[in-house]
Amino acid sequence: MTTPPPPAHADAPASAPNRADCPDSGRIRAIPSEAPWRDLMGGDARREIRCYDHGFVALVDAMPRLVPEGQTADAAIVQAARVSYGQGTKKVSEDRGLIRYLLRHRHTTPFEMVEFKFHVAMPIFIARQWIRHRTANVNEYSGRYSIMPDRFYKPSIENVRKQSRANRQGGSERFVTEPEGSEEARREAQTAAEFLAYLEKTEKLHAEYLRLSEAGVSRELARIGLPVSLYTEWYWKCDLHNILRFLSLRMDAHAQEEIRVYAQAMHDLIEPIVPLTMEAWRDYDREAMHLTRLEIEAIRRLAEQRGREGEGVGGAGATLQPLVVSDNKREQAEWDEKRRRLGL
Ligand SMILES: Cc1cc2nc3c(=O)[nH]c(=O)nc-3n(C[C@H](O)[C@H](O)[C@H](O)COP(=O)(O)OP(=O)(O)OC[C@H]3O[C@@H](n4cnc5c(N)ncnc54)[C@H](O)[C@@H]3O)c2cc1C
Repeated sequence: MTTPPPPAHADAPASAPNRADCPDSGRIRAIPSEAPWRDLMGGDARREIRCYDHGFVALVDAMPRLVPEGQTADAAIVQAARVSYGQGTKKVSEDRGLIRYLLRHRHTTPFEMVEFKFHVAMPIFIARQWIRHRTANVNEYSGRYSIMPDRFYKPSIENVRKQSRANRQGGSERFVTEPEGSEEARREAQTAAEFLAYLEKTEKLHAEYLRLSEAGVSRELARIGLPVSLYTEWYWKCDLHNILRFLSLRMDAHAQEEIRVYAQAMHDLIEPIVPLTMEAWRDYDREAMHLTRLEIEAIRRLAEQRGREGEGVGGAGATLQPLVVSDNKREQAEWDEKRRRLGL
C-alpha cells in the first residue's frame, strides 16, 4: 500500500490556527484512496465457526478491515515494514517476499499492525488455558452480574480419552466403547460410560444453582459450585503477531484437543484475510522444525559417517548414531519423531 501525494483539493478546513512558519500545520488533509475500498469480511457482521455443541469462534472485526481493491490485510504489514526499510525495500519490493523475510527473521512488529476481534464461547476449562495468552484484550461474560446459562461441554462416548502413559499432560487414545469382545474392552466401555454419567451429575447442579440464586444467594457465590465444563463467553482482541504465537502453541499436537479445535477455527477465519502471512507461518513455523545443537551434531556425525563410506547423506548402509548426549527419555522421543519426519 503506497501513499499517494496529497491532491491539491484535499485540504479540509483548518481546525487549529495556522502557524507562521508552516501554513499547513494544524490542518486535516484528506487523502483519497488510490483504489475503491473492499471490506475483507465481505460486508458480514460476523463470520462464525461452531465448535462442539454450544461453542463457537466468531470473527467480528479486523484491522484493517477495509483495504484498496485487490489487496488483503497483508498489505498493512508490508506498509508498516516499509517505514523501517525506507528506500531499501526496492530489493525486497514484492509483498510476498517481504512478508516471508519478516517472518523468517522474526521481525515481528509489522505483524502487530493487523488485529482481529473474536467473540468466543468455550468451556471454562478451555478459557483457563486461553487466558494465559496475556497480550490479548479480553472482556468476559460476568457470572456476578448475570445467570450462567445451562450449557455444558460433554464429549461423545467415542471421544472419551484415556490418560497417556508417555505424556502426563495429555491423552489422545480413545476407550474401546463397543462392549463386545475381551474383558478389557468391556471394562473400557464401562469406564467411558461412567465418566459421562459423572459429567451428567455435575450438570444437574445447574438446577440447584438456579434455585439458590432465586432464593437470594448472590450470583457471585451461587456460581462457585458449577463445574468447569460450563460454557463462558468473551470478546478477545489480539494482534496478528501474538495470534500466530497462540496458534503455534494451541494448534500443536501437545495442546489439549479441545483448545486445538478452537485454534483451528481461529486459523480458518483469519486465513483468507492474511493469506500471505498464514502461508509464511505454515512454512517457517507450523510445519517447520527446530533442531537443537545436539540434534545438529547427530546429523553431522551421520553425514560424516556416510561420507566416509563414500555415500551421500541419504545413502544406504549407514545408520544414524544414537543421540547419546542426553539420557532424557522425552528428549530422545522428540528426536526420534524429528528423525522420522526427516526420513533419517
Ligand atoms: C502444551 C502446553 C502446556 C502448558 N502447561 C502449562 C502448565 O502446566 N501450567 C501452566 O501454568 N501453564 C501451562 N501452559 C501455559 C504456558 O506456560 C504459557 O503461559 C502460555 O502458553 C502462554 O504463552 P506465552 O506466555 O508465550 O503467551 P503470551 O502471554 O501471549 O505472551 C506472548 C509473548 O509476550 C511476552 N509477555 C507477555 N506478557 C509479558 C509481560 N508481562 N512481561 C514480559 N513479557 C511478556 C511473553 O514472554 C511472550 O514472549 C501450557 C501451555 C501449553 C501450550
